[in-house]
Amino acid sequence: MRYLIVSDLHANREALEAVAREAEDRYDSILCCGDLVGYGADPNAAVEWARARCDRVVRGNHDKAAAGLEDLSWFNPVARTAAEWTARQLTPENLAYLRALPRGPLPVEDFELAHGSPADEDEYLSWADQAFTAFDYMESRVTFFGHTHLQGGFRKTLANVEPIPRPPAALDRVMLDLRPGSVYLINPGSVGQPRDGDPRAAFAIYDSGAGIVTYWRVPYDVAGAQRKIRDAGLPDVLASRLQNGR
Ligand code: ZN
Repeated sequence: MRYLIVSDLHANREALEAVAREAEDRYDSILCCGDLVGYGADPNAAVEWARARCDRVVRGNHDKAAAGLEDLSWFNPVARTAAEWTARQLTPENLAYLRALPRGPLPVEDFELAHGSPADEDEYLSWADQAFTAFDYMESRVTFFGHTHLQGGFRKTLANVEPIPRPPAALDRVMLDLRPGSVYLINPGSVGQPRDGDPRAAFAIYDSGAGIVTYWRVPYDVAGAQRKIRDAGLPDVLASRLQNGR
């Protein structure tokens, strides 16, 4: 099976449409590691796309926030403003869908989907020492995760845990051959709000038969997404940060 794996869409319709176009005909099934909404100006479009197209979705902290399942005092003021705005925009059907999303990790075939860590759905895995502990909680050889908005992830060998770098700016994709004997935490990157210094929308294709993950980047209409965020009256930083992917 070939899976299109997306994460952290964050209600960015322009980025999502670019990913859908680029990935077309390259997958059999779509999976999502959470955060369909929050920050961006098109929450209903993102949820409706997931309802129509995704086979499995785990909930992210921003999905919980919009659905009223999260204590917003844990959120910074910008994220809280965006979550409250999002909750007001969502249709009752889309709110009900977010409320019913399962907590990760969620088994799929012989791998798993998580939002944060396999140990804790809200934990950030940004560095190798954080991933080191997370590997102990994995039930399978490969877990896809999101939450950090950093494309790449971590590989655990017998000797150590090492980071997997994102594709360099000059390339639109990089293939990773999953080696026997290694265990992987794979972050497809963020569709709607990359934070790894590359403003292009990120996703991954996983060919489970061949054991190959392809990390992908695609440019999208950043200016269009920024205009909608500003027109909605959301905090300006949510628009400006899309420019450099930070
Ligand atoms: Zn997120």
